[in-house]
Parts: sequence; C-alpha cells; structure tokens
Amino acid sequence: MNVNPTHCPLCRKLTDLDALPAEEVVWRFPHSVALLGPWQYYYGYCLLISRRHATELNGLEADERRAYLAEMCLLARALEECFRPRKLNYELLGNQVPHLHWHLFPRYDADPDALKPVWLALDRAERDAEERRRLESGQRSRVATAGEIRQRLQLLGAPTL
Ligand SMILES: [Zn+2]
Repeated sequence: MNVNPTHCPLCRKLTDLDALPAEEVVWRFPHSVALLGPWQYYYGYCLLISRRHATELNGLEADERRAYLAEMCLLARALEECFRPRKLNYELLGNQVPHLHWHLFPRYDADPDALKPVWLALDRAERDAEERRRLESGQRSRVATAGEIRQRLQLLGAPTL
C-alpha cells in the first residue's frame, strides 16, 4: 500500500516537530525521530518514525535501513536501562498509517494482560473511556519519562541530526 507523502500524517508530523509538545519529541536521530507515545501505562512507550517515507523496510536503501535499525536498538537499550521492563515488544505494523514506524512497548509484570499483545487492551480503549484513561496515564509524568530516556540516550552517545 502506498500513500502519497503529502497526505501522510507522519510525514506532516515530521515537517513540524517544533509544533509538538516538547516532551513528545524524545530524540531526533539522523534517520528517525523518537516520539513518546500516548499509552504511558506502558511507561516509556515510544514510536520511532523513519525520516524517509517508505511503507516497508525493504523500501529503504540498505545503509539507511541499517542505520534506522541501529537507532531502534539504541532506543530499545535506553528503554531497557531506564525502566527495566520484563520484556520489550517491537512492532512494525503500518496497517493504519503506512509510513515506517516502530512501536516500542515496554511490558511490565503488573500488567494484567502481560502475556497478550497490547493491541487487545488498546482496542478495548477505543470503546471504553475509563480503559482509555488507564492506558494513557502512566506511573510517571510524560515530562519525567521523556527526560529520563533523553538522558540515557545522551549517555549512550546516540547520534542526532
Ligand atoms: Zn509518510
């Protein structure tokens, strides 16, 4: 599936990062941008959006793809070191927005759905306002979470654009 980049919501978002709340933009890597996601019940949840519009990983040049994946691994390491989740979930779907973006979901022991994909709970949140509030609010403030990830990426020597 191809979307004209001018109609792509993620392309539009990337062109105006300064318009986003400061805590949402976690890190500006050379090949991607890490954004703090809305579902902070999974505190540390980030999206890693490819700077280039492509719908599939094989749509990136080999060097670009390697760099994008290396940035994803750096972000994953930062999340692990910051929050010590039981497991990280990596998801690259694009069914709704076909522009490469990883979802990095830290999964924690306290989660009653710990063994299931997050999408089952997020689907419930679509229809249930209370469930939505539960999943949007984490144990920490978004500002503190973003700050902690940034600090860790800095320590790890993460590249920036
Ligand atoms: Zn796009």
